[in-house]
Amino acid sequence: MHKWRWRDSGSAFVRRARVERGAPKRYTAPPSMKRFYVTTPIYYVTDAPHLGTAYTTIAADAFARYHQLRGKQTRFLTGTDEHGLKLEREATARGLSPKAFVDEMASRYVEAWPQLLCQPDDFIRTTEPRHESGVQELWKRCADAGDIYLGDFEGWYCVACEGYYTEKELLEGNVCAVHKRPVERMREASYFFRLSRYGDRLIDLYTRHPEMLQPETRRNEVMSFLREGLKDLSVSRTSFKWGIPVPGDPAHIMFVWFDALANYLTALGDGSLRADFWPPTLQLLGKDIIRFHCVYWPAFLMSAGFPDDQLPRTLFAHGFLTINGEKMGKSTRNTVEPRRLAEAFGPDEVRYYLLREIAFGQDGDFSHLALIQRIRAELGGTVGNLLHRTLGAFVQKYFDGKVPTRVPAAEDDLDSVLRSTAEAHVREAAASWDRFEPHRALEAAISLASAGNKYFDECAPWALAKDPTKHDRLGVVVHHVLELLRIVSVLLWPVLPSKMNELRHQLGLEPVTPVIDRDLWPFAWGGLAAGSAIRPGAPVFRNITKDDETRLLAEFAALAGAAPAATATKVPAKATKTSGDSLPPAGISYDEFAKTDLRLGVVRTAERIPKKDKLLRLTVDIGEASGPRTIIAGIALSFAPEDLVGRSVVVVANLAPRDFGKGLVSHGMLLACGPSESLALATVDKPQSPGTRVK
Ligand SMILES: [Zn+2]
Repeated sequence: MHKWRWRDSGSAFVRRARVERGAPKRYTAPPSMKRFYVTTPIYYVTDAPHLGTAYTTIAADAFARYHQLRGKQTRFLTGTDEHGLKLEREATARGLSPKAFVDEMASRYVEAWPQLLCQPDDFIRTTEPRHESGVQELWKRCADAGDIYLGDFEGWYCVACEGYYTEKELLEGNVCAVHKRPVERMREASYFFRLSRYGDRLIDLYTRHPEMLQPETRRNEVMSFLREGLKDLSVSRTSFKWGIPVPGDPAHIMFVWFDALANYLTALGDGSLRADFWPPTLQLLGKDIIRFHCVYWPAFLMSAGFPDDQLPRTLFAHGFLTINGEKMGKSTRNTVEPRRLAEAFGPDEVRYYLLREIAFGQDGDFSHLALIQRIRAELGGTVGNLLHRTLGAFVQKYFDGKVPTRVPAAEDDLDSVLRSTAEAHVREAAASWDRFEPHRALEAAISLASAGNKYFDECAPWALAKDPTKHDRLGVVVHHVLELLRIVSVLLWPVLPSKMNELRHQLGLEPVTPVIDRDLWPFAWGGLAAGSAIRPGAPVFRNITKDDETRLLAEFAALAGAAPAATATKVPAKATKTSGDSLPPAGISYDEFAKTDLRLGVVRTAERIPKKDKLLRLTVDIGEASGPRTIIAGIALSFAPEDLVGRSVVVVANLAPRDFGKGLVSHGMLLACGPSESLALATVDKPQSPGTRVK
């Protein structure tokens, strides 16, 4: 366990700050019920956008769109977390300045979200000046309140890592997991935040306002943590530089969480936006970071002078996803890479599946098969089917391509039952969004589309069409189905924005266009105008056949583990470029396989190559009398050189030497798999001596 020591110095800086700055006066805008401000956590840039971050971002986007439909002015914020020792080290390992490195990495997030039809209003990066000055202001306010003092931080420090570890993170005997060498007990001056002062107020707050922290399981976790009593929090370091300096004492860099959490505030800037949108209406987070968001973050705000009604309205922690029943790991991650999923299945469909399949707030499983089944049964088979069976066969054929008139004399009980069913489902969908249950809102929409199909079958329009005296009745039935589809298009729009606009186009309707202060939720039946022209077209949802299913599942399964390393395309030593989208033809003999001489090797040295930011020069011991071999490997985006020394790797030992020019010659190749920025190296699971044949 950490040993916490501090002395309350009442530092000169704190006293000075208190004198110079008056009592906090800002941040007092009354909360507006007409505004909806939703945030995702800011994502750590060294990681690529993945299914987990996509899930949170899609959910935030869908909530924002729902509230737009309800006439609210919405603001959706996401961004990237770009400070910290780990980032500083990775940048250095790649021969880049931290700023150049984070610029490159952040762009992947900026580009990723629109591919999933997410439209954030703002994207904040913690390296932006607006953020840095905002964080410093927040710090000063906490200092003004007397909540920041100078003390000593003591912990386990790895000199090579230049970083602290908790005992849990270390190997047996207090050994650094990265460098395999003992860490040292170190002590440094650190500013502390008086977190201990806020435990009772947080307990009181969450007791009076349970809606502020959801779901209930997470609230219970936080409450029991609070009841154990809070310790003051070390909020600065002097051991690295890549971060925001403490005001008045720039030798200290702020604790990355103090910096990162403030983004929700700093993104609103100093002007009118803050008054309009503060406090956040909904802050989404993963269940692994509840302590930071539900304890530290409100405590920082309380300290800075925010009254209870100016604290985040709801902090909502969603669960984690497994992939086809397994924990998301380096290899399974490829199979759920968000952009790849969107390309194969459609971005609307991926959004739908994630929010429909997983009960929001609980853990869930992502399965490619379940995704296909939901698209096929619910989107294609229920919503798409109802549209296409009505438009072509009836509206075009019997009503000249126009929405038929509803003749009251031709109505019967089935119609009124359908209308009240629709109204109930519409109310249920809205209530579900308001309860943070998008899965139930979607269930209500699909179940309404099912009711439409059932109504259609019961009314037997094909029989009505044969009898000219039943033409008015046929018109009523078709009209009801089209109106129901109009309603469904609005209910599903927050999650399937582009597909629902396609569907509306075919119905002859304009795209969904939210208007501030106008509630467009389809509570009232009857928005469809008789006589307007439909525009039938291709199926809105593609039909995934059994053959497509087999092919898609095989393609995605091949991405797990079987996908060759991205080194394939970067290191010419690898003969064939297989993209991972297809498997090589089966059926080589063992003898053919045995021609490949695979050996276990141990990396002895590793270094960067100037101007080659993807390559590392390694020497690898494969037990040869001539000493370690030089291997040039395209793995620099995934590994820092120092992380490789001492590692066991599998080497293709009998590849012809490959000349990279400028004296770089590779004598072999490492086996690896995964995308180039998160490669996994092939290895063996028990120690074996270097040079052992892998067969
Ligand atoms: Zn270390």
